[in-house]
Amino acid sequence: MTSVHREEFEFTTEIQQLLEILIHSLYTNKEIFLRELVSNASDAIDKVRFQSLTSESEVANKDLALKIDISYDKDNKQLVIKDSGVGMTKEELVQNIGTIAHSGSKNFLKNIKEAKEDINLIGQFGVGFYSAFMVADKVTVRTKSYTADATGYAWISDGLGKYSISEDEKAERGTEITLHMREDAEEYLDDFRIKDIVRRYSDFVSHPIYFKEEQINKLSAIWTKSPSSVKEEEYLEYYKYLNHSEEEPFARIHLSYDAPIHFYSLVYIPKKVPWDMKHQAPESWKSVRLYAQRVFVTESCKDLLPEYLKFVRGVVDSDDLPLNVSRETLQENRIIPKINKNLVKKILEKIVEISEEDTEKYQEFWGEFGTFLKQGYRSEYNNRDNLVKLFRFNTSNCDDSKPTVSLEQYVERMKPNQEEIYYLTAEHREALENNPNLEIFRRKDVEVLYLVDTIDDFLMEDLKEYNGKKLVSAEKEDINLSAIEEPKNEENEEKETPALEEKEFDDLLGFFKNALKDKVTDVKESSRLVDSPCCLVSGKDSMGVGMQKLMQMMDQKFEMTKRIMEINAKHPIIVNMGKMYKSNPREPLLTTYCEQLFDNAQLLDGSPINPREMVPRLQKMIEYSTSTFVSESIAKETDKDTDEKSEE
Ligand code: ADP
Ligand code: MG
Repeated sequence: MTSVHREEFEFTTEIQQLLEILIHSLYTNKEIFLRELVSNASDAIDKVRFQSLTSESEVANKDLALKIDISYDKDNKQLVIKDSGVGMTKEELVQNIGTIAHSGSKNFLKNIKEAKEDINLIGQFGVGFYSAFMVADKVTVRTKSYTADATGYAWISDGLGKYSISEDEKAERGTEITLHMREDAEEYLDDFRIKDIVRRYSDFVSHPIYFKEEQINKLSAIWTKSPSSVKEEEYLEYYKYLNHSEEEPFARIHLSYDAPIHFYSLVYIPKKVPWDMKHQAPESWKSVRLYAQRVFVTESCKDLLPEYLKFVRGVVDSDDLPLNVSRETLQENRIIPKINKNLVKKILEKIVEISEEDTEKYQEFWGEFGTFLKQGYRSEYNNRDNLVKLFRFNTSNCDDSKPTVSLEQYVERMKPNQEEIYYLTAEHREALENNPNLEIFRRKDVEVLYLVDTIDDFLMEDLKEYNGKKLVSAEKEDINLSAIEEPKNEENEEKETPALEEKEFDDLLGFFKNALKDKVTDVKESSRLVDSPCCLVSGKDSMGVGMQKLMQMMDQKFEMTKRIMEINAKHPIIVNMGKMYKSNPREPLLTTYCEQLFDNAQLLDGSPINPREMVPRLQKMIEYSTSTFVSESIAKETDKDTDEKSEE
């Protein structure tokens, strides 16, 4: 036997550091090593195919089948991944697996040290090969280049700083990687495990993967087919596979673009909010799976879709993304934003289409995803028109609290001379139904958007207008509905009410202003109240109450802006107070009434009140009215007694 000459090499410092991290990692998802090795094998086959198509000199073993073989030997604890790809020369071995050549990889190392990066992304950073050392304590790479008269080599390392290279008698072109599995990684020496991992990560690798004589990947990249050639069941099956469920999707979009960039996409819009979006932070939401030239890259490409559309699932595959997209961080890639732009447009157009064709189906979709779409409006610049078409709101015209009205419908129903779209926000519909600010709207039959979603206040701030009609909060001071005619009906008939003289009313206004000077900025006569004595409105330049309540929830120290109180000159309470003030301006109960009316208004629109002030005040008023009753009835009793006596 001739002795084999082994040449020893040291890994570069970065690789040593990376290996140290990988070897000691407690990372639970170690199965990705197989994905990385299969993807390298697939890359190598892609390269040899390219060479055989383009190179002038002949490729070695040119009739060798292009395939990947996986096998294992349980007794010897070995797992083998073999391909008929380009193979490597000795120089390439040193260059490709021994050195970190790309800045992206160095970045990865830095991030992974600071625990900012997930090992799962290892492949994207051009160091996927080393993931083998998470599961193996020794790796042998036997390889032979496709070039003419190439010599075979064996690369061996235990990952502890050094590797060796020696000549090898490998007969055919390609690479064979043998993993000597660590004790804690023997679970991968298992039929089910191997098939499962391949199916999950490499099912759509574009070269056949064989395991025990059987091809275990599907190969059919259905997104690359023309839509007319894909059967409905195939679309559905693929969705189920992607979604790990039996459910049908809400919609499907299958596209293929040639220019300016080349990409295929087959995406599905689900019917229900995906699990991760409900239970995990946005950073860990999965999204559309990104492929580069049929090779799976990631299912969490941050920039492929905006956050609000991350519920969309499926595949994007671009031939313009380099196979080695791992060599740059995806964030730096200029193709992704272009795909994003096309995709978002198509997705929204599709949803709009369904919303117009099938109201009932869309209504359910809106119930699930409405909040996401509303959130999206803020970050969306190019597709706001389509997003607005999707919004549905509950309004004063609805019989229940379901959001069913689009802004388009609202505008169609606007009253003659109505210039603005009105809305009001509260925690729930009942609170809005009782809000005195809306009395004039009810009387004039003007529709009001009833907004009860926390995001709605922000949405209104962002929307500002629709179709040239301003969106205005119904609790703003300068609301003027005088140009809108009142429908004639009995309820609206003017009732004859005793009114205050002008001077009496002005005096009372003055009194109110003084009594509430710490609580409101002004007190004014109201033109919007019908049945209530008073209400609170916001100054025209101040932030809406709903928004202020949100601010207060986020910041305890946030102080709500004082509002303006409007009083109803025709209301009996106001009329009586006016008379009381005229007969005794110093009557202490008048201040108590003002304060209580203020608190009542606060209560009705869901603003906080202080029970420690309100309860004693109410008790004082009860005491007063009961004692008035008692003294009056005693007076009556005495009268009766005297009458009876005189009859005797
Ligand atoms: P990446 O695949 O992103 O380049 P890897 O760490 O996975 O990073 O692999 C490093 C390099 O090693 C590859 O670019 C390739 O040149 C070489 N290589 C790895 N596996 C094989 C293989 N099976 N056949 C040929 N070359 C390979
Ligand atoms: Mg790789």
